[in-house]
Amino acid sequence: MKKIALFPGSFDPLTMGHLDTIERGAKLFDELIVGVFLNTSKKSYFTASEKLAIVKRSVAHLPNVKVIGQEQKLTVEVAKECGAHFLLRGIRSVKDYEYEKDIATMNHHLAPDLESVFLLASPQYSHISSSILKEVMAFSGDVADYLPQPVCEALEKKRDQDEK
Ligand code: ADP
Repeated sequence: MKKIALFPGSFDPLTMGHLDTIERGAKLFDELIVGVFLNTSKKSYFTASEKLAIVKRSVAHLPNVKVIGQEQKLTVEVAKECGAHFLLRGIRSVKDYEYEKDIATMNHHLAPDLESVFLLASPQYSHISSSILKEVMAFSGDVADYLPQPVCEALEKKRDQDEK
């Protein structure tokens, strides 16, 4: 059986930490689907279509990685539709562990056949989140080291549009 995993997240924006998890996950599974989803508890900086385009450009070098967008359905429903038997998520800290444990337990309740798999964040990225990067960027701090090139390009474009 082909091992298909879904990596769901809000990716607002995609960071080097997310990309690292995607690259490592792509080696574990036959196919990895990155689900660019809506997190109703977070305010979005990029629109859904901007995020989708950025993630697609950032994973173009990975042949077994596919990217999909979704704003309406439950993650477990999307996984079922994609034929995924695994959910991939990343853990940076104890704080993430607590959060991820609750999500995984709820997903197990909703879809017992779907197995959640976690990768520990690589040490060089374990202190970054989309939120912290957005906070620094809001005050013009340089966080380019933590962002894939397509994200930097999209940010520049957005800044130019805002200035017009
Ligand atoms: P969500 O809003 O669903 O939590 P995020 O885009 O914030 O989506 O994160 C998606 C997944 O990536 C989560 O499992 C999160 O723990 C993980 N993640 C976030 N930042 C990093 C990082 N720097 N390194 C590894 N994993 C990360």
